[in-house]
Amino acid sequence: MIPQKNIIQIKDCYGCGVCAAICPHKLIQIKLDKNGFYQPIIRDPLKCTKCGFCVSVCSFLDGDIALEKSKKIEGFAAWSNNEAIRYKSSSGGVGFELGRFSLVQGYKACGVRYSVKKKRAEHFITDSEQEYQESMGSKYVQSYTFDAFSAFKKDEKYFVTGTPCQIDSLRRFIRLKKIEENFVLMDFFCHGVPSMLMWDKYVQLVEKKIEGKIFHVSWRNKQAGWHNSWVMNVNNGKYSSLFNRGDVFYNMFLSDSCLGKACYDSCKYKALTSSADIRIGDLWGKTYGHDEKGVSAVLALTHQGREMIKSLKEYVTFITEDIEVVTEGQMKNPPIRPLMYKIYMWMLRSPLIDLKTEVIVIKTINRYVALLAHPKQTIVKLIKKIQNI
Ligand SMILES: Cc1cc2nc3c(=O)[nH]c(=O)nc-3n(C[C@H](O)[C@H](O)[C@H](O)COP(=O)(O)OP(=O)(O)OC[C@H]3O[C@@H](n4cnc5c(N)ncnc54)[C@H](O)[C@@H]3O)c2cc1C
Ligand code: SF4
Ligand code: SF4
Repeated sequence: MIPQKNIIQIKDCYGCGVCAAICPHKLIQIKLDKNGFYQPIIRDPLKCTKCGFCVSVCSFLDGDIALEKSKKIEGFAAWSNNEAIRYKSSSGGVGFELGRFSLVQGYKACGVRYSVKKKRAEHFITDSEQEYQESMGSKYVQSYTFDAFSAFKKDEKYFVTGTPCQIDSLRRFIRLKKIEENFVLMDFFCHGVPSMLMWDKYVQLVEKKIEGKIFHVSWRNKQAGWHNSWVMNVNNGKYSSLFNRGDVFYNMFLSDSCLGKACYDSCKYKALTSSADIRIGDLWGKTYGHDEKGVSAVLALTHQGREMIKSLKEYVTFITEDIEVVTEGQMKNPPIRPLMYKIYMWMLRSPLIDLKTEVIVIKTINRYVALLAHPKQTIVKLIKKIQNI
């Protein structure tokens, strides 16, 4: 195979944006593709000097990950000792506490906030604790990284959070730039990112309902407890919609109907595979099944990660747990791309089909697929039904 000189031939990649951040001539733009996922485009290929930097940092092109698999992974159940932070965060608030602590240690923190103006999630860099609060809580859409990732400076220290694929490319970026020791990287157990076409339709639907513009969104809310925290909350309670009462965003997202192609076909980051120093997540599973305040799953993957976690013990309760407990309830393999994926994407592109209709279609298809997958049980059930008539 001829080695690739630049990323022009890449299709359906992770959309991490790191190639655009490293290109010395700023030739690469990150744009949404027709299905609503970020993809790189070389604006003026004739100006490309074939330096190969964009290819070197691309985690999608490499079958492996940047960080050698750690021989010593430590696992914890953890939560912030500050009740307000724990309540506001998606799980135990450890993500925010780590960022806050790194600010005190002289790092800049780089996390994700939601921009209501641009209707997108985006990475940002800050040295202010108040501003960093915008990163609290998961935004279950793909984040735009370019502005933040192109602003890293050689002499500063950074604590960065992102999806595992973003972090794997970023690890390559900081190595290539020889600034790896200035960074602490954190990722999370990652389910996948849904199409921005779906998010746009959801925004339209909500804005129609509230007869106004969205100025604040929160994806999770622990009012009814942590296990029931799949709640879309808009404009501080003006609109609230629960997954278990049929919220269409969560129906689309959690049924794995409209994730990025790479999330199904090329994700190599499930369970323990990571290029980060620290991995966090929700500690679902039996051991903490009774907890309704939220428990973070934490993996310390490198020496740097372990040191940072040790220093945080004043602010966070850490309980050492077996890796099996920490990863319980997490996906071990990527989801399977639905047979009708192309049709689902076509429906998302069509302005004539609203999200509610699409959810009904998907549920119906899934029901029939399940019936066809188990023909014997289906026939037995049918016979029983007929006998009962
Ligand atoms: C798309 C997505 C899928 C996820 N899938 C899973 C999963 O399958 N299993 C699981 O246990 N946890 C998953 N998580 C993580 C989980 O939702 C919580 O963020 C995690 O438990 C940490 O919670 P916390 O309370 O410690 O921190 P929080 O305060 O909730 O911190 C969240 C951190 O995540 C960062 N972040 C938020 N949104 C994004 C985004 N869109 N892209 C990149 N970084 C972001 C923020 O900058 C912040 O540092 C997912 C998160 C996202 C964004
Ligand atoms: S090969 Fe170099 S100049 Fe060309 S797009 Fe990639 S990073 Fe930019
Ligand atoms: S599921 Fe995998 S490919 Fe998709 S955003 Fe998460 S880490 Fe990246």
